[in-house]
Amino acid sequence: EEADWDLAEFDGDEDGGAPGAPMPTLAIVGRPNVGKSTLVNRIIGRREAVVEDVPGVTRDRVSYEANWSGRSFMVQDTGGWEPDAKGLQQSVARQAALAMESADAIVVVVDAVVGATATDEAVAKILRRSKTPVVLVANKVDDQRMEAEAASLWNLGLGEPYPVSAIHGRGTGDLLDKILEVLPETPRERLGSVGGPRRVALVGKPNVGKSSLLNKLSGDERSVVHNVAGTTVDPVDTVVDLGGRPWRFVDTAGLRRKVAHASGAEFYASLRTKSAIEAAEVAILLIDASQPISEQDLRVLSMVADAGRALVIAFNKWDLVDEDRRHQLEREIDRDLQRVPWAQRVNISAQTGRAVQRLVPAMDTALESWDKRISTGRLNNWLKEVVAATPPPMRGGRLPRILFATQAGTRPPTFVLFTTGFLEAGYRRFLERRLREEFNFDGSPVRISVRVRE
Ligand code: GDP
Ligand code: GDP
Repeated sequence: EEADWDLAEFDGDEDGGAPGAPMPTLAIVGRPNVGKSTLVNRIIGRREAVVEDVPGVTRDRVSYEANWSGRSFMVQDTGGWEPDAKGLQQSVARQAALAMESADAIVVVVDAVVGATATDEAVAKILRRSKTPVVLVANKVDDQRMEAEAASLWNLGLGEPYPVSAIHGRGTGDLLDKILEVLPETPRERLGSVGGPRRVALVGKPNVGKSSLLNKLSGDERSVVHNVAGTTVDPVDTVVDLGGRPWRFVDTAGLRRKVAHASGAEFYASLRTKSAIEAAEVAILLIDASQPISEQDLRVLSMVADAGRALVIAFNKWDLVDEDRRHQLEREIDRDLQRVPWAQRVNISAQTGRAVQRLVPAMDTALESWDKRISTGRLNNWLKEVVAATPPPMRGGRLPRILFATQAGTRPPTFVLFTTGFLEAGYRRFLERRLREEFNFDGSPVRISVRVRE
């Protein structure tokens, strides 16, 4: 039996990486008994120093720190994964798919003595489309004779097979050199610096009140701590104490020292907005409540949603809003903000200070959702109930079955559904709605990708 996995809808979101450890992660995937655990032990030098136990996705995903040629990286051991009732191929395919989302490089291990099996082929098929670099290992090549067998694994289409004997160490030096060659220096997402102040982007079109709000929030100049203290260089970020905690407002230099609107300024403002959003965990999008919601507002909104950041929408200049305008605005919200029904909304006045203190609980809620992780058990219990009550619509006379769901990442929460057929956009939106009702992701985008097994 040949599994056929379609990753067309894979959207490549990744997890935040190991908390507090800006080291790249190497994932080891492959069938049971090919020698993954043996290889992990070989790579980490059998020190077995457990430094991270990632909760949620699978109980058994454990990372170890490894060093080679003066570089440090994390090795994610998936060796303990048992094939579940859904079958071996699915379980191994799931492993590979998760690795593509969470790791910086992947080692796929094949048993050279056995040769490539149908499961190996299925995994190779998934990994051939990986944007994450993949290194193919032909394990159990304990001597010269076996090398010929290893060469046949070129057929998997994953490039050169590295012949290795994990148990004796043969070939592992060359393999590690290759791994360091493809492994990036830093994890691909570095938002995981827990402990530091949360990073906020203050965004919105010109004249919406960004500078006024920053000034209002920082209030007394002495409560503002600049991150480049004691230099004459303009600090890029501003750290402000709000609700008793520091928050880092990213890339605010231009806001505090208003730059003249020269020609081309809009283009640069847009680039700047983009980079601020990328650097932030949560965005406060300011909209001028006294004016109709504009194209420009929606463009910035799309930037935030596309970047997958937590979001708070602040309707500013509320002091200028009268009864009539309020009704108008409600209609505009219904029309223009459908895309983000989950966004937190706060009506403020940067000028008078009205309700600005409500931004903090809104950001807290949004970030809590953004960081949230639902265990695989809870997720699948919920899914079973929802699908039983409202099955997906038939396609071509067949009922697509949803086999399994897992949360592959956080920041924002990213879910993967494994199905036997295509799920219509309407049904996917339905699932997202129900998921939000059940687990509450207020203030955060949620991503759902579907993997179809033909
Ligand atoms: P995993 O299930 O993929 O983690 O595989 P293990 O690391 O538990 O190894 C499965 C079996 O293969 C064990 O009995 C290992 O001793 C054996 N094994 C692992 N690597 C090698 C190797 O390079 N050569 C030989 N001959 N056996 C190996
Ligand atoms: P920025 O370009 O987004 O940084 O906007 P500014 O903070 O420079 O504000 C643009 C103009 O709007 C200034 O004249 C502010 O005084 C005014 N403004 C900002 N916030 C408010 C508000 O809440 N109410 C009113 N009435 N005016 C405001």
